[in-house]
Amino acid sequence: MDVHQNYIAGRWVASRATLPVINPSDGAKTAEIARGGAGEIDAAVASGQTAMAGVWGKTDAASRGRLLAKLAELIRRDSEKLARMESEDVGKPMTQARNDVAVCARYFEYYGGAADKVHGDTIPFQSGFSVMTFYEPHGVTGHIVPWNYPLQMTGRSVAPSLAMGNAIVLKPAEDTSLTALAMAKLAEEAGFPPGAFNVVTGLGEEAGAALAAHPGIGHISFTGSREVGVLVQAAAAKNTIPVTLELGGKSPQVVFSDADFDDASATIVRGISQNAGQTCSAGSRVLIEDSVYDRFTGALAERFRALRVGSASQDLDLGPVVNPTQQTRIESYLDIARKDGLPILAEGSFGTNLPAGGFYVKPTLIGDVPPDHRLAQEEIFGPVLVAIRFRDEADAIRIANNTSYGLAAGIWSSDLGRSMRLAHKIQSGQVFVNNYGAGGGVELPFGGVKGSGHGREKGFEALYGFGSLKTVVLKHGA
Ligand code: NAD
Repeated sequence: MDVHQNYIAGRWVASRATLPVINPSDGAKTAEIARGGAGEIDAAVASGQTAMAGVWGKTDAASRGRLLAKLAELIRRDSEKLARMESEDVGKPMTQARNDVAVCARYFEYYGGAADKVHGDTIPFQSGFSVMTFYEPHGVTGHIVPWNYPLQMTGRSVAPSLAMGNAIVLKPAEDTSLTALAMAKLAEEAGFPPGAFNVVTGLGEEAGAALAAHPGIGHISFTGSREVGVLVQAAAAKNTIPVTLELGGKSPQVVFSDADFDDASATIVRGISQNAGQTCSAGSRVLIEDSVYDRFTGALAERFRALRVGSASQDLDLGPVVNPTQQTRIESYLDIARKDGLPILAEGSFGTNLPAGGFYVKPTLIGDVPPDHRLAQEEIFGPVLVAIRFRDEADAIRIANNTSYGLAAGIWSSDLGRSMRLAHKIQSGQVFVNNYGAGGGVELPFGGVKGSGHGREKGFEALYGFGSLKTVVLKHGA
């Protein structure tokens, strides 16, 4: 059985303890990873600092861009191997894992191309002065990512930071660390110098907490739950460093009577069933205009009944969820629905030959959920869609904004004026009109408002976030 080590300063380093790697499709142990802690994080941050003072710190923007582009090429070369690893580790159906690999490669390609296009400005000032601004790297940046899209989250967080010229320390989620380690191997092959790209695996409260609190990092990027996000921000505050928080969501899909029902229902069901509903930006509340509520929930129910759950390699619509804790959590919300008498409008089904020991849940559509009910307020993080009625435009906006989250929103209507009014009034980082891109589009700035976090990833916005703007004022005389 493989025992995976940490990647620090260009070397593979064992830890004193290990953690098991569990396959969610059958509950079997497949490997072990290092249980890194404060010592490994110290070493990784020090190696990043050494890289910044040495070869990596002197690598110019165009050369950094070429290294990122090379890494994208290697990810594509190994796409089938990486997809299989991710699929087995997370429980993702292979088709979805293949897409994750493609998106990860795209992050490195996009930011590789952008690396030498980030530049400062000149600013007209008093006569006899020249003023210019420069983007400079923060130094060593920390990246804590969750288990739902390990490759995508790694690419999204790490690629813009490397493009800006930082050295990175990545702490993947303890349940799904394998592809982060595979990425470190590819980064070495691409030619990143030792210390530019470090990976320390381990528990959140050990390695993660040590990274967030480390005085040697210049920026921390955290993607995960709100509870932990608050801890990470508090730790970063002690070192007065900037933080990007990409947290959870309870994103609304708002469906008006003039929507294209076929397109809307297909996209909404795909959005909540993709990755077994473990998607931060999943549209997990569907708000439906009263007059078409029965008709539209009927269309959704038909699609839910067609959903099939299987192991990752069976490659059906949904795989298992990532671990037993997550499975129990989702089932507890379904119990609440039953106890409170909420109608279960439809369920998907388990496919044949489902391996014993896996963490499977059925995708479920729940109707007539009151907007203040726990199921309409709390992030379930599973394939559970709650349907809520609304009366008119004002009611739709009020309900859409009536949660503590604000990550993404979908609006379905053929009235583009109304859609645009809603797009302005819904509190959310992204709004999609007559489409919904949970997770997609590396070019599109992404992030939350309210309890969904702050800071933006993706697009050029992310790149600027990984740099610090310096203003130079030169007096030369008129
Ligand atoms: P989590 O917060 O439990 O864990 C995320 C990461 O934080 C893991 O690597 C974990 O090891 C680490 N961690 C845990 N405790 C820590 C601590 N005390 N200090 C530092 N690090 C610690 O989240 P999760 O359960 O892995 O992921 C699910 C959550 O992530 C959901 O709320 C989901 O919405 C959110 N998420 C958000 C986005 C986004 O882009 N907004 C994307 C994916 C997931």
